[in-house]
Formats: sequence, C-alpha cells, structure tokens
Amino acid sequence: MQICIDAGHNYSGTDTGVVGVNGLKEQDITFSIAEQLKNKLTSNGHEVIMTRNNLTDNLGRDVASSLTERVRISNNWGSDFFISIHCNSGTPTANGTEVLIPGRGGLAESYAESVQRAICNRLGTMDRGVRVDTEYLNTRLYVLHNTTCPAILIEAGFLTNAQDAEKLATRPDDFAVAIASAFGSISGTSRFTDIDGHWAQIHIEKLEAYGIINGFDDGTFRPDETVTRAQAAAMVSNALSVLGK
Ligand SMILES: [Zn+2]
Repeated sequence: MQICIDAGHNYSGTDTGVVGVNGLKEQDITFSIAEQLKNKLTSNGHEVIMTRNNLTDNLGRDVASSLTERVRISNNWGSDFFISIHCNSGTPTANGTEVLIPGRGGLAESYAESVQRAICNRLGTMDRGVRVDTEYLNTRLYVLHNTTCPAILIEAGFLTNAQDAEKLATRPDDFAVAIASAFGSISGTSRFTDIDGHWAQIHIEKLEAYGIINGFDDGTFRPDETVTRAQAAAMVSNALSVLGK
C-alpha cells in the first residue's frame, strides 16, 4: 500500500501545535511518531511518503496553506491511505486516544478502528473511540475531506495530561508499532495459495487488503480464470464501499 504520513503542524511559524506539560511541543511529538511509523511501515513492505521529512520542516505560509500543501503532497503521489498524526489538548484531567474519520462505513473507519484498538492496548491510553469529525467537532477537518484516498487523523493522546504526555514523549516507538500493526504486512501475508510469483500478485494483494476481492473458500484466487457477472458485481460493489468516504 502507498501510505502518506502527515506529522501534524509545523516546526515554527503560524501552524504550530499544542504546547503541553513540561513545554512539550505537539509538532515535535507528531514528527517523532511519524518518523518511527515510516520505518515500521516500510519494513512491512509498504511505500511511504512524509509531508514533513525533517523535524524542522515548515509547510505553507499559514495554517490554510500548510494544510493545502499536505493534501497536495498526498494527492500528487497517488497515496492509497493518508494518516495524520496529532496530539490533543484539554483540561489536565482530559486524557486518552481518539481517531477521527470523515464518515462511517468506508475503509477509513475500518483502519481507524484497528489503529484505535492497537494504540489503547499497547500504550494503555483511555479509549475515546473513533469519531466522525462533523458530528464530534462540528467541523470538516481539511485533510480528511480533501485527500483523494481514505484518510484518518489520530489524536494519539493529550499533551496537557501528565500521564499521556509522558507516554507521548518517551514511547513514540510504541505508538508507531501500534499504528503500523493495523496496516499489516504486504508481502507474504496474502491468504491466497496460488498467486505467488503471478504477474498480478501485487495488484491482487492490494485489492485483497482493501477487501475488494475475497477469492474462493478453498483459499485459492485462481488468477487466470475468467470472472462471472456475479463476481464482477461483487467487486464493483466492494470497491464502491471503499470509496464511500
Ligand atoms: Zn494538532
């Protein structure tokens, strides 16, 4: 899968993030999780592009152009999935992990559920759930609604809460491992028994990862057989629900 990782906010300038306990800066934490996540996803066989490649990178001149630039990078590259990483802020007692999505029922929601579970299990953060931005925040988060691929925004924890902040500052690697686990490993994980070495293997694995194709009950995909009208209808229908972000 081609995955765009967006480390939320800029190092300096106007689009800087939350400043939490002990002066921790959101833009530094998001970059360190993003960088670790890039390594994990790459070693699992995914291709990755980062919106901020270096900690000190700044995108755009202001908040609006910073967000536009992030979306442009992802859309230009033709990402299959977009992951924006952020930290929350609130009262000192507010804590936990939540993942924001642009709507229910699509691929964004299913990956968001896996990411949410994995982070809460690995880090022991409170599970605040997967939320639709328009219902929960009453706003359309720019990166979720303007990327051409399914997109999620992870609020990994509250930088304004002492316990969450400690985890965010000292365990970026664990956040990255948890997020990466939701996307699985591309090579060698196909459940189909008859596609190894086939010219279409990577395409078949991609559609399998998206849930567009399911193969046969005996574990085969039968890559050289013809498709029936019913199978074609099922694939188009599955593809449409993937697009339904
Ligand atoms: Zn943020």
